[in-house]
Amino acid sequence: WSKETVAVVTGANKGIGFAIVRQLAKQGITVVLTARDTNRGERAVESLKCEGLHDNVNFHSLDVRSEQSALALAEWLRDTYGGIDILINNAAIASTEIGDTFEDVKSLLDTNYFGVKNVTKALLPLARNTPGGFRVVVVSSSVGQLKGLGNNNKYRKILSDRENITEDLVDDFVYKYLEEVENGTWKEGGWPDWTKLGQQFPLRTYSVSKLAVNAYVSALHNSFAAGRGRKLGQLVNVFSCCPGLVDTDLGFLGRPVPKKTPEQGADTPVWLALYCPKGGSGKFWSDRNEKEF
Ligand code: NDP
Repeated sequence: WSKETVAVVTGANKGIGFAIVRQLAKQGITVVLTARDTNRGERAVESLKCEGLHDNVNFHSLDVRSEQSALALAEWLRDTYGGIDILINNAAIASTEIGDTFEDVKSLLDTNYFGVKNVTKALLPLARNTPGGFRVVVVSSSVGQLKGLGNNNKYRKILSDRENITEDLVDDFVYKYLEEVENGTWKEGGWPDWTKLGQQFPLRTYSVSKLAVNAYVSALHNSFAAGRGRKLGQLVNVFSCCPGLVDTDLGFLGRPVPKKTPEQGADTPVWLALYCPKGGSGKFWSDRNEKEF
């Protein structure tokens, strides 16, 4: 890896995203640390520079929910580097940070699902012909595995047919959930009900958002499948992964269980971005292993 390789990490001012930037930068890669808050982002870059990573970490603002913000980043990346090699969609919020009203549910999905799509769409045109292919990694969660989908047999069937998942089907899944939340019928609809499992807060929307990004990764992979992962002659790899239970501000589950450090949580996303396991695109990963979606 060299300074010519350019990686972009979202939501990287703290937590796992920050650790991902550090690990990529230590490989000598040029890393663009993005954050929605300029002060927090610039402070994070400064602290990495103090660690000796002077030359290859830069900041650009990015609110993943905003199309305008994503397009401004894309324009800056094109002008500054000409293209990029790695995109790590890490930014997310959890139900603990917000309530459980319809607006809260929408806000969470706007960040965790539509935000991932928004940034990926804006930056894909910058994908370079990186050896082994361009890499998109989505930091997801094991609560986004199909086994967490409650009694919702309709969507379990649709989403488990991974080879035929499309972006429209995933959007349909998310909009149906929003509709059922708005109508107050989500329980009858069979959506995941984590409160029943003794969780202290509604993990339901968070798990729906992570199910959606896991499915989106398969859908994106399928959309390139006509050329076996090639878009406009380029190979594009797209992975989703769980970092494990990590001690960060997201701090959810709130249980006194052993947690990984952010550095340990960054391991699988960084490994996917650098090692890019052959045949692994479109799939869900945890602890460097492919896992059931
Ligand atoms: P943190 O809360 O520490 O970090 C989340 C980051 O996302 C922050 O930098 C936050 O910025 C940023 N962010 C939130 N909303 C936006 C937005 N609209 N635009 C840009 N950035 C935004 O959490 P983690 O480091 O734990 O989480 C990283 C990823 O790991 C997430 O995708 C999470 O779902 C996943 N994950 C975490 C687990 C854990 O145990 N911690 C377990 C499984 C998955 P700000 O500081 O401005 O709020």
